[in-house]
Amino acid sequence: GGSIEIYNRIRELIEQHELLVDLELEYEKEGIGVKKSGCHGFCEMGPLVRIEPENYLYLKVQLEDCVEIVEDTLINNRPVKRLMYSSENRIYEAQEDIPFYHKQTRQVLKNCGSINAESFTEYVAKGGYQALSKVLFEMEPQEVCQSIIDSNLRGRGGGGYPAGRKWSQVLKQDSKVKYIVCNGDEGDPGAFMDRSIMEGDPHGVIEGMLIAGYATKSTAGYIYVRAEYPLAVDRLRIAIEDARKHGLLGENILASGFSFDININKGAGAFVCGEGSALTASIEGERGMPRVKPPRTVEKGLWQKPTVLNNVETFANVPLIIRNGSAWFRGIGPENSPGTKAFAITGNVNNTGLIEVPMGTTLREVIFDIGGGIKDGKKFKAVQIGGPSGGCLTEEHLELPLDFDSLKKVGAMIGSGGLVVMDEDTCMVEVARFFMNFTQNESCGKCVPCREGTKRMLEILERIVAGKGSLEDLELLEELADTISSTALCGLGKSAASPVVSTLKYFRAEYVEHVVDKK
Ligand code: SF4
Repeated sequence: GGSIEIYNRIRELIEQHELLVDLELEYEKEGIGVKKSGCHGFCEMGPLVRIEPENYLYLKVQLEDCVEIVEDTLINNRPVKRLMYSSENRIYEAQEDIPFYHKQTRQVLKNCGSINAESFTEYVAKGGYQALSKVLFEMEPQEVCQSIIDSNLRGRGGGGYPAGRKWSQVLKQDSKVKYIVCNGDEGDPGAFMDRSIMEGDPHGVIEGMLIAGYATKSTAGYIYVRAEYPLAVDRLRIAIEDARKHGLLGENILASGFSFDININKGAGAFVCGEGSALTASIEGERGMPRVKPPRTVEKGLWQKPTVLNNVETFANVPLIIRNGSAWFRGIGPENSPGTKAFAITGNVNNTGLIEVPMGTTLREVIFDIGGGIKDGKKFKAVQIGGPSGGCLTEEHLELPLDFDSLKKVGAMIGSGGLVVMDEDTCMVEVARFFMNFTQNESCGKCVPCREGTKRMLEILERIVAGKGSLEDLELLEELADTISSTALCGLGKSAASPVVSTLKYFRAEYVEHVVDKK
């Protein structure tokens, strides 16, 4: 909080010194510009002020610090050391040297916290829309699909399905009307990666969708955003309008013969709408409920037309792959899960925030090197990965590389990238109850196993937490978990029991203590 006031105050002070320049219109003029950027990711330390070109990062800035920032740093070139990150007697001047940033590889988040998200010019100045013009004028749709296949970009929404394969399946469909849908319905508690991308670099998402549109011969795109993300909606709207003004959306884009436009749909915040078929139903104005597959979305998706459905982070990777090449992308992270992944780290960790690391980075590096370890010197106990559909990982997994396949092997999943870190004082049964309560509330009620089963599981967990459970309850939980995951219709139901299953697996003794102790 307070960032806007700080922005206004710094601006006012620069103006008083008659040094203020408009970064959009007076690029050449000497002076000092000030801009609002997207999220820098270092949430724990906000409000943040970054000074360029020195790359100083000022942390926890207060209104009373503004005079010093303007007079010392901006006018007299002297850093305000007390506002910089310090640890073990060292002061970190440049943002990139701060341990929180040092181990990160910020590709998708590169523009977040650096450019003014409402400026078309700044996006273009950073190489934006070059990838679009490359595909429009130098590549055939099939070649674009092949580039994405060669890059082995896997969907960042959780499933990890190869994006290029999906695109080429849609390209092959014989239909005049096809759609591109961007899933921005991030619903996991503790996850805000997609939100930050939409707020901090909206043109990156739009460019990715445009490229997907060209590659699959699609005609229109829809971005489905949670209504709880009003700033993301505003920034996307501004970006879409600017792109239209510059001839990058609409009829005959840049006289290439390709026409494509993008609409925004606001979701009402139902978790189940993150599921593909529920999401398309919701865009069509129907109730957001999953449906039975097949047909698959690539054949009959939105309004029964072939549809590419990817999430925000997946689309944001696309312009980078086209610009830098598939081999470049494959060079980051492990062969089977190349590229980077954005994670939101929250919970009992020192540096909560939004990070981006190469796939395959270990949990230890994420929690201890970047996250700065556990708060108040406590011991690490577990981390919940993948939100309510994911599972928990424990100390024995600290060396585990975070990528799609390694996580699958231990029964967890990346999901969209939420990481909730828990310390030694956390009650794992309560964690399971929390997630089951969430899922049970979000169950759309269409099928019985999920609707009734999650209710029963929640009742049992509540009973155990209240000290009224029995050992049989643990078996009952396992049985219900089995039934729900094998019979539920959609991903929400299939994975609803995962937090219970994994906490039972790794912390069974804690459950037993609850049922035995309290009697
Ligand atoms: Fe709805 Fe749950 Fe069935 Fe999915 S599994 S369709 S959320 S009731």
